[in-house]
Amino acid sequence: MNYKKMTNEDFSFLKALVGNENVTVLNDIEKDFAHDELGTVVSFPEAHVIVKEKNQVQMIMKYAYEYNIPVTVRGSGTGLVGACVPLFGGILLDTSKMNRIIELDKTNLTLRVEPGVLLLDIYECVEKEGLFYAPDPGEKTATIGGNISTNAGGMRAIKYGVTREWVRGLEVITPDGELIKLGGKVVKNSTGYGLKDLIIGSEGTLGIIVEATLKLIPKPKKTISLLVPFKNREDAIAAAPRLIMDHVIPTAVEFLEKQSLQYSEEFLGKKIPHNNFEAYLLISYDGNNEIAIQEDIEIASSLCVNKYNAIDVFLVDTEERRSSVWNVRGGFLEAIKASTSEIDECDVVLPRSNIGAFLEYVRELSQEIGVRIPYFGHVGDGNLHIYFCKDNLSDAMWKEKVSKGFNLMYEKAFTYGGLVSGEHGIGYAKREYMQKLLGGKQMEIMKGIKKSFDPKNILNPGKVI
Ligand SMILES: Cc1cc2nc3c(=O)[nH]c(=O)nc-3n(C[C@H](O)[C@H](O)[C@H](O)COP(=O)(O)OP(=O)(O)OC[C@H]3O[C@@H](n4cnc5c(N)ncnc54)[C@H](O)[C@@H]3O)c2cc1C
Repeated sequence: MNYKKMTNEDFSFLKALVGNENVTVLNDIEKDFAHDELGTVVSFPEAHVIVKEKNQVQMIMKYAYEYNIPVTVRGSGTGLVGACVPLFGGILLDTSKMNRIIELDKTNLTLRVEPGVLLLDIYECVEKEGLFYAPDPGEKTATIGGNISTNAGGMRAIKYGVTREWVRGLEVITPDGELIKLGGKVVKNSTGYGLKDLIIGSEGTLGIIVEATLKLIPKPKKTISLLVPFKNREDAIAAAPRLIMDHVIPTAVEFLEKQSLQYSEEFLGKKIPHNNFEAYLLISYDGNNEIAIQEDIEIASSLCVNKYNAIDVFLVDTEERRSSVWNVRGGFLEAIKASTSEIDECDVVLPRSNIGAFLEYVRELSQEIGVRIPYFGHVGDGNLHIYFCKDNLSDAMWKEKVSKGFNLMYEKAFTYGGLVSGEHGIGYAKREYMQKLLGGKQMEIMKGIKKSFDPKNILNPGKVI
C-alpha cells in the first residue's frame, strides 16, 4: 500500500484546522497511542490528532483522501484486538474529546450523543431520568463510538441483546469526507440496505461515527442477583443452558471459577461472600414487577438446588453485596493480566449447549501445550474469554505456543458451531482465524463492501479483512 509519508505541510494543515495543542507528531507521540489495552500490536501514527467537531473530521478525511494518507480512529483505546492501532502510520484520529451529550428525547426515548461520550456517562445521564441504556460491556470507560464500532456485548446480552439493537441512527463521515445520515429516531426502518447495521461492528474500517442516536427504555425498577455455588465446573456450566431451557430466562449469567475469583480478589484486595466453592454462576433478574421477579428468583433457586446440583443459593440483594460480587467479577481481566508478563486472549462464542465440552477441550489443550489458560465467560450467551498467559516462557516459545494453541482452539470451536468473536471484534489480531472460518466467498463479499466505502483503503487499513 503506497501511502504518502506525512510532511511538515500536512502537520501544518492539521494544526491550522484543530489548533496546535490538539496535534502531536512523530517522536513527540506518547507510546500509549501506539497500542490498545491488550498491548500486543504496536505501531505509531505520524500524527495524533484530537478532533472536537464533525466538520474537522470531514476536512481531515477530504485531505487524507486527496493525499492518500491512512487514518485510524481511536476512542478510549480499551480494545483487545489491536483495532485502533495505526498499522501504517498516518493520522490517529482521536474522538475522545467529541464527548457532548446532545439531546435526551423523552418522547421518542432516544439519546443523541457524540462518539467520544463514555459508557459510564451515558448510564449516569439516563438513569437519573429513570431511563435505561441496556448494553453492559465490562469496560465502562470505553467510548460509545468504540462500543458501536465493535458491536460491544456485555453481561446483559441474553435479555437485552448487544449494542447493535440499541442504535437507532448514526451520522458517519465516509473516507472521502461526505457526511451520511443512517436511520434516525425512528423505531422501524425498512429503507433499502441496512447500512447503519453494516457500520456497527465494522471497527472503523468503513466510516467514522460522529453522532449516534441510542434507544432507551424505562429503567427496570428492581434487579436481584444470585450467587450459586457448585461442587464443580461441569455442573455450573451445564446449569446455564438448563435454566434457559426451563424458561426462567435471566438478564445475565456469568460463570466464575475458584481460580479466576482468587486472582481477582488478590488483585482488588477484596473478597466476595461465600468464596470457598469450586465454581459459581452469578445470575441476575431484573424488571418492573417485583412479584414477577420474586417468582423468577424462587423458581431459579429451586431449580438450581433441586435439579442442577447447586450446593446452595445466596441472594445478592444489598448494595454492598452487589458491588462486592460484581466488582470482583468485573476485575477478572485486569487480575489475569496482572498475574503474568503477557497475555493473549480469545473471545470465542459458541452455542451455549456446547460450552461445557469446549471448555473441557481448553483444559486438555492447556496440559498438552504447557500454557496456563485461565478463562471466564458470559455463559448465558455462549461468549467465553480465554487467556493464554506467557508466565516464564521465552518470546520464541510463547509465539509458537500461542499460534499452535489458538489454531487448535478455534478449529475445535468451529466444529462446535462457534465463531471467532462474540464481542471484541477481529481488528488485527484475529484476522487469520476469521478468514479460515468464513472462507473465500464471504471474504470476497466483505472486501467488495470495503472497496465501495473506501476505494483507496485509507481508513484503518490492515484490519478485519
Ligand atoms: C477490562 C475490560 C473489559 C472489557 N469488557 C468488554 C465487554 O464486556 N464487552 C465488550 O464488547 N468489550 C469489552 N472490552 C473491550 C473494549 O472495551 C470494547 O471493545 C470497546 O468497545 C472499545 O471502545 P474504545 O472506545 O476503547 O475503542 P477503541 O479501542 O479506541 O477502538 C476500538 C475500535 O473502534 C473503532 N472506533 C472507535 N471510535 C470510532 C468512531 N467514532 N468511528 C469509527 N470507528 C471508531 C476503532 O478504530 C477501533 O477499530 C473490555 C475491555 C477491557 C479492558
